[in-house]
Amino acid sequence: MSGALLRVENLSKHFVMRGGLFRRSASVLPAVENVSFELHSGRTFGLVGESGCGKSTLGRAILRLHEPTSGRVLLDGTDITALNARQLKRRRKDMQIIFQDPYASLSPRRTIGQILREPLDLHRIGPTSAREARVVELLERVGLGRDARARYPHEFSGGQRQRIGIARALAVEPRLIIADEAVSALDVSVQSQVLNLLSDLQKEFGVAFVFISHDLAVVQHVSHQVGVMYLGELVEVAPVERIYARPAHPYTQALLDAVPAPDPTRRTGRVAVRGDVPSPLSPPSGCPFHTRCPQVMPVCRERVPRSMILNDPQSDSQAVHRVRCHLHDPEIIKT
Ligand code: SF4
Repeated sequence: MSGALLRVENLSKHFVMRGGLFRRSASVLPAVENVSFELHSGRTFGLVGESGCGKSTLGRAILRLHEPTSGRVLLDGTDITALNARQLKRRRKDMQIIFQDPYASLSPRRTIGQILREPLDLHRIGPTSAREARVVELLERVGLGRDARARYPHEFSGGQRQRIGIARALAVEPRLIIADEAVSALDVSVQSQVLNLLSDLQKEFGVAFVFISHDLAVVQHVSHQVGVMYLGELVEVAPVERIYARPAHPYTQALLDAVPAPDPTRRTGRVAVRGDVPSPLSPPSGCPFHTRCPQVMPVCRERVPRSMILNDPQSDSQAVHRVRCHLHDPEIIKT
């Protein structure tokens, strides 16, 4: 038994794309392919990768906002993918999402008090008489006063609206929050305030976060473990200190090299990632990264890399360093 709050097992999400005359032709887009990882309470799993690599689709598939094509999502041992609609609705309160653009997810015609009250009523959290007090408590916890209750979303700044989005997610006391580019649209100073707030809330309530971002500096700051996605696959997973100090996959190395270094004299000598991401509708054969990899070998064009464990995690699933690259496969390297 791993003791993980969240276990994602071989999760895939494929979209069927219809086209042609009368939309009769169909092709399959594998947006997420066989993704597995674990996350414990009070911890953050950072998910990085270029735009369009499947990060957001994975976040939504975990919550079943996109119905997974195959695989399982276990939350505290319950298989979320096997729940019927009624059971899923009951478990929704345990799994919340914070979006990049809080404005789009806040109804412009409802006051902040109504927006925060809605999930409390929907999930019957606490006695009815105590719910208004709970709304005030939530607003104060995210640094907004009780006066915010009577105001509308457009009256707030981007950072304040993100705080409202966080308060709404917290209202139902979730165990897991998917933060999907939650601070990407904010100014740097507001970003750090919101990140500090998330970190305080994690310490206080033990919430686990899947933190989706294209910003590697932010992910390094907030995460305990990091997963790197490329064309829908998790190509590397490791504890944050390890992956930033010793990235093993050429794609991770290239992403890290693209981050501006505070000291430009400390160059790694590695080559940053080149070219565009191939279309997921016709992914490359063998290793999906071979069309852009500076260390490509002939075998990479033919064989799909196995998942290799690079360290001895001593049965701690949170410490494992896993990579999908032939360079780390002794069977390939010795030939
Ligand atoms: Fe590069 Fe080959 Fe490793 Fe893929 S398997 S990342 S192409 S070296």
